[in-house]
Amino acid sequence: MNVTDSGNSKEQKASLNFIENIIEEDIKNKKNGGNVHTRFPPEPNGYLHIGHAKSICLNFGLAKKYNGLCNLRFDDTNPTKESVEYVDSIKEDVRWLGFDWDDREFYASDYFETLYDYAVKLIKKGKAYVCEMNAEDISANRGTPQKPGKESPFRNRSVEENLDLFQRMKKGEFKDGERTLRAKTGMDSPNMHMRDPVLYRILHSEHHRTGNKWCIYPMYDFAHGQCDSIENITHSICTLEFEVHRPLYDWFIKELEIFAPQQIEFARLNMNYTVMSKRRLLELVEEGYVNGWDDPRMPTICGLRRRGYTPESIRNFADIIGVAKRENVIDVALLEHCVREDLNKKAMRVMGVVNPLKVVITNYPDNQTEELDAINNPEDEKAGTRKVPFSKIIYIEKEDFMEIPPKKYFRLSPGQEVRLRYAYFIKCTDVIKSPDGEIIEIHCTYDPASRGGNSPDGRKVQGTIHWVSTANCIEAEVRLYDRLFTKENPDDVEEGKDYKSNLNPASLKTVKAFVEPSLKNAKPMEKYQFERTGYFCVDKNSKKDNLIFNRTVTLRDTWAKTLK
Ligand code: ATP
Ligand code: MG
Repeated sequence: MNVTDSGNSKEQKASLNFIENIIEEDIKNKKNGGNVHTRFPPEPNGYLHIGHAKSICLNFGLAKKYNGLCNLRFDDTNPTKESVEYVDSIKEDVRWLGFDWDDREFYASDYFETLYDYAVKLIKKGKAYVCEMNAEDISANRGTPQKPGKESPFRNRSVEENLDLFQRMKKGEFKDGERTLRAKTGMDSPNMHMRDPVLYRILHSEHHRTGNKWCIYPMYDFAHGQCDSIENITHSICTLEFEVHRPLYDWFIKELEIFAPQQIEFARLNMNYTVMSKRRLLELVEEGYVNGWDDPRMPTICGLRRRGYTPESIRNFADIIGVAKRENVIDVALLEHCVREDLNKKAMRVMGVVNPLKVVITNYPDNQTEELDAINNPEDEKAGTRKVPFSKIIYIEKEDFMEIPPKKYFRLSPGQEVRLRYAYFIKCTDVIKSPDGEIIEIHCTYDPASRGGNSPDGRKVQGTIHWVSTANCIEAEVRLYDRLFTKENPDDVEEGKDYKSNLNPASLKTVKAFVEPSLKNAKPMEKYQFERTGYFCVDKNSKKDNLIFNRTVTLRDTWAKTLK
């Protein structure tokens, strides 16, 4: 794990990352007239995840920084895996992150005609041919990086025959897999991607935009670079695995004699305790390991949103991790740090008890309720104060009481005085137990002179704990989330098992909690800090008479000091 290595440590903040260096050099040299035009090119075959967020922030961020434009382009070349549901979710997520593509919403499928013409052009130049080998045979004849592949027996067809066959492919005369169009790049390149790659395959499959118009579809490799070229993308930014595809993309551009975008590769975001590929996320959803794409344990943008993450926190995270040329793994605790920092400024403080223990204040009047002043957010002067009701019987957290405390335990224990936040000093006088020895109730006395939690005579109490009044509190469902995987590297598995064997069985714990009455009108997606406990977001399905809170993060921050 190496965070500073990935780019922008604090000192480097002002300096440029390697992509910005390239762009500034290009602007200086008036390359492309000094224009910067990027794109974010998702395939609509799943929901976006935090890795995509990095790419979105990068592409839209660069366009903004250099007064350029960024397109949203759906790489929809595989109708069997894609859908409108995914298209819509992607648009929602990009917008939510705070970016805007204006009217530049494009689809690879918008260019199917042009891409077909490009293929015809290659055939006419003798640079592409129709092959009758099936997928297994093509693969078996590709050779290895050390050993050249075998040429297809269909490789030397005439241009006329190829044109005729390709047209018949388009017309639907063949079944899926019976023919492909392949580039004639050679079978002996050390780069396997350059060994007569397939450009078109037959797929009798309805497309979410073009319907049944096409039964041949371009391969991703034949579409991606050409789409960038058609849109005059100046800087085509992609992840490192496409570095080895670049010679092929350059070959297409050269043979087709079309505008050449510059491809720049950066290291994709990897995060510990997290899986990021859409294939795996889909598997987790489909096999019911999580409750949908927006399950708050998912690293999807919609999952993070439901968990309580803010767009600012994700953009800030992308900024801190920066861009690198070398693969690295980012600590998920850094992402958690970013949301804490943002919510610390924004979230109202409230009191909620997630693991309740009843406390009776024996010298407090029986039917009395007092309204005490509580500060809404010490980080935000304008946030003001609110009233919290106090009465004879309250709940505190079980963890805040110990019958036989260790040294330096400053919370409640027999004979020890603590401050109830915003209320009074109390002292434990009795511990009530069930017949089997379980603590069911604590009796305390309070000092009326300590109202507001202030010391009446200068005497000090070390501990301050939160509480709610049983007479006034509201019951709420609280979902306590933990990491979805127990291992830093979910792929660290025993033989014969896969990443799913590292799923954390305790990643979701649902409890009944009691919260202060000011939360009775809490609206879905609102964010709160439960004092001393963590940040919580009201779930999208929360109702007035059925409040549900998702824990975004606890308050413990391992990155706060490192980044200061
Ligand atoms: P995955 O491999 O996670 O399933 P993908 O690369 O197939 O994702 P695309 O829809 O093709 O998903 O990705 C759209 C854009 O997002 C691409 O430009 C890709 O490089 C970028 N991207 C995807 N995953 C990451 C990541 N982990 N870090 C940074 N960028 C990413
Ligand atoms: Mg991809």
